[in-house]
Amino acid sequence: MNILVCIKQVPDSNKVEVDPVTGVLKRNGVESKMNPYDLYAIETALRIREELGGTIYALTMGPGQAAVVIKEAFAMGVDKGILISDRKFGGADVLATSYTISQGIKSIGDIDLILCGKQTTDGDTAQVGPEVSEWLNIPSVSNVSKIVEINEDSVVVEMDMTDDIEVTKLQFPCLLTVDKDIFMPRLPSYVKKQATKDREITVISLAELEDKDEQHYGLNGSPTQVQRIFPPEVNAHREMFKGSEEELTGQLFTKLQELKFV
Ligand SMILES: Cc1cc2nc3c(=O)[nH]c(=O)nc-3n(C[C@H](O)[C@H](O)[C@H](O)COP(=O)(O)OP(=O)(O)OC[C@H]3O[C@@H](n4cnc5c(N)ncnc54)[C@H](O)[C@@H]3O)c2cc1C
Repeated sequence: MNILVCIKQVPDSNKVEVDPVTGVLKRNGVESKMNPYDLYAIETALRIREELGGTIYALTMGPGQAAVVIKEAFAMGVDKGILISDRKFGGADVLATSYTISQGIKSIGDIDLILCGKQTTDGDTAQVGPEVSEWLNIPSVSNVSKIVEINEDSVVVEMDMTDDIEVTKLQFPCLLTVDKDIFMPRLPSYVKKQATKDREITVISLAELEDKDEQHYGLNGSPTQVQRIFPPEVNAHREMFKGSEEELTGQLFTKLQELKFV
């Protein structure tokens, strides 16, 4: 079984500042880490390999330094690493990102199962996984909280729908995005880290992709136009109401009317 896990490098803090002039995130000097949900996806892949055997690929799209998260994946037990990286991919929105990742996956070939995290802690859209599956024309299920049954041909999963749990069966090839309840991720092993420190990572640039049309990638391939990025203003305004229960109710109702909530 060939399993591919999509992993993303994200800032190690939710306190990333925005340049007030350019509106661009100030990533310089900010420590990075693997998106936490992707650790659950890697753990899921490792458990499946323990049961069925096979090869696990970790794939990330990002600048050269994103290779660090692939090295971490190696130290957890992943077999092969793919870095999709090219200046032409810069400024990609979710559509262009998912397209680029799907092109990268196509160039690797025979993948039975693609695993993604449920969402990232920076972009947070939870759209990349389902969009990759659309580009590849394979079925997908999001928010997978349990693998019920798996064999060489198919997988039965529980999908957490907040109020309900839905059970569904998918034939391979397919894509799952996994929730944090699925398995507790193992820590990277020092022994594996040492053993894999020189392991090569395959770098895929635009030249290696089937679709080489620059218009489909990066800023060119991104229909989203960000008008402005800004940190939300801190509103320290407070109002105190005093009086009896009845008076307070009246004051609160008047305030809600003023604010057009009622
Ligand atoms: C107009 C525009 C321009 C942008 N320009 C840039 C830019 O220049 N640089 C930049 O870093 N971001 C940029 N972004 C943000 C970028 O589009 C998102 O980071 C990216 O689409 C992933 O979305 P997400 O973080 O919401 O992922 P989600 O959909 O929340 O992620 C779900 C899962 O998908 C997988 N995944 C997500 N991203 C990756 C990845 N890169 N590699 C491998 N697996 C992945 C992971 O398994 C992850 O757990 C831009 C966004 C817009 C709208």
